[in-house]
Amino acid sequence: MPYFLRLPLLLSLFALSACEPTLPVKDNTRSEQWYQQGQQRAALAAAQTDNTGPAKNLILVVGDGMGITTHTAARIFTGQQQGLLGEEYNLSFETLPHSALIKTYNSDQQTPDSAGTMTALISGSKTRAGVLAVSDKVIRSDCASQAGNELQTLFDVAEQQGKASGIVTTARITHATPAALYAHSAERNWESDDQLNDSARQSGCQDIAAQLIDYQQQQQRLEVIFGGGRRHFLPASMSDGQRRDGRNLMTAWQQQADHHVATSRQQLLQADLSQGHWLGLFAASHLPYVAERDASTPGLLDMTRAALQRLQHNDQGYVLMIEAARIDHAHHQGQGQKALQETAELDQTVAWLLKHTDRDNTLLVVTADHSHTLTLAGYPTRGNPITGVVISNDDQGRPERQPYRLDDGGYYTTMSYRNGPGAVDWQQHNRRPSVNPEATQSPDYRQQALVPLDSETHGGEDVALYASGPWAHLFGGTMEQHWVYHVLQHALNPKAQQAAP
Ligand SMILES: [Zn+2]
Repeated sequence: MPYFLRLPLLLSLFALSACEPTLPVKDNTRSEQWYQQGQQRAALAAAQTDNTGPAKNLILVVGDGMGITTHTAARIFTGQQQGLLGEEYNLSFETLPHSALIKTYNSDQQTPDSAGTMTALISGSKTRAGVLAVSDKVIRSDCASQAGNELQTLFDVAEQQGKASGIVTTARITHATPAALYAHSAERNWESDDQLNDSARQSGCQDIAAQLIDYQQQQQRLEVIFGGGRRHFLPASMSDGQRRDGRNLMTAWQQQADHHVATSRQQLLQADLSQGHWLGLFAASHLPYVAERDASTPGLLDMTRAALQRLQHNDQGYVLMIEAARIDHAHHQGQGQKALQETAELDQTVAWLLKHTDRDNTLLVVTADHSHTLTLAGYPTRGNPITGVVISNDDQGRPERQPYRLDDGGYYTTMSYRNGPGAVDWQQHNRRPSVNPEATQSPDYRQQALVPLDSETHGGEDVALYASGPWAHLFGGTMEQHWVYHVLQHALNPKAQQAAP
């Protein structure tokens, strides 16, 4: 039964006093079968051999803010949408043979931000929160401290090897995660010139969108860059635009030989992606959430397919970064279901990649830059809707017919946040308000939180990394985030690494 039908059914069952089981789906797996499954998994792992060839291609997939709790919830959510109980389901990337835990702190911050974490992933060094592809000598927002402290990135390595480069994101392409790959900036928020501070302007620091165009004009490095953020490329005189310097950077891109622009899903699908350099800007700001997207806007999978079409034409291989950016934004808004929908889109995209890339010569890495404060709690019965209220088991392990009522008399959801806009307003309520089970079905529902904040915060615990392909076996144990880059570099050029002292 589809997931969306299951909760209404469950609710209607509350109204009945009949002693029927409350959950319509059963798991018929018995203990012997659990045992056999485990045996089969161990045999598969034992038969695995290490791939020590050079990685022709590298795909780095980043779920922004996709902490381990988000994985677990998204796994259950996706399984339940397919009519399963959910807990037994595996997201596509959870089937990859190698994994590690990743420590995410920035050099100056216990709980990190995306600029510092992405810099670690793609440059090989930790740095401060808020800065892009510059070392920790740079003071955030201090342009004068930037000169000479720019870091080499993964795209520099790709360039040296004649590989094509690509970026796909559901955020503005000038946002921290994608920008770290092509820009060097003391401040992640300098996305267009109107956002530079006075001293940055006086000291000659360039905004991130302008850096993208100049980087391309000088080196012609990017084959594809797809995402949102037109507003940072267009002058304020144009609708959507906010640049103060009057430059139209989309035109500047197109004026280069064999450089093209796409602004809608239709244009992307019809594009001849056998050659050329493609800038796709499909929204003024971030792309809409999955829950709010219409047919004119491409999704993560559309953009990934298009990027691969172009990149696979390069005989030397490619380096592609794919970001599911809005997992992070949904969490900041305290809207768990939206975050799970965005994670499900990432899952579909990785499933497609696994079918359409060669695992023998392509290193595929799926990770997150940092976590969030989402928790899964209570003792919901097996198969309980993950975005819904908690229904527990009775003393004999059978599902109760009513949601669990806390001592305060109200219901509560399995998913909640430690802080954020979903916090209970204690001045207005002298007790925690109960949760309306029907309200939890909406993607706009905000799960309850403890500490009130306009924006829910990142979480500081480790994130997971999954990998397959050449040298993926070098990922394991608990790793510092900047170590990831060094494995990627080794996989792209193992001979150079072996020759190093
Ligand atoms: Zn964030």
